[in-house]
Amino acid sequence: MPCYIERTRDGGTMFLCGNLGPHCAAEKCAASSGYLCDYQVGDGKTCDLPLCSSHAYQVAPNVHYCPGHLILWNEFRDSGGVEKELVNVVPFPQK
Ligand SMILES: [Zn+2]
Ligand SMILES: [Zn+2]
Repeated sequence: MPCYIERTRDGGTMFLCGNLGPHCAAEKCAASSGYLCDYQVGDGKTCDLPLCSSHAYQVAPNVHYCPGHLILWNEFRDSGGVEKELVNVVPFPQK
């Protein structure tokens, strides 16, 4: 049975064992994953790295990136590409 190390709100850690799916893919992190990286890698596919709540960086509503892709995203955003990308990636709320 896999075990996980979860971070608690007060900065401590907590052990958890059970069948909770893949571990978070971030380096040195052993938490259970509740998120997948939504970074587009082409062909309609996404990165899909399993991420825990502290390593899934939300860049838009319901869009989470892994730490590596967050860096790429920040570079992309800083280069001014964000408006074009948002039109393609972020689902706009239904009116
Ligand atoms: Zn993590
Ligand atoms: Zn990713």
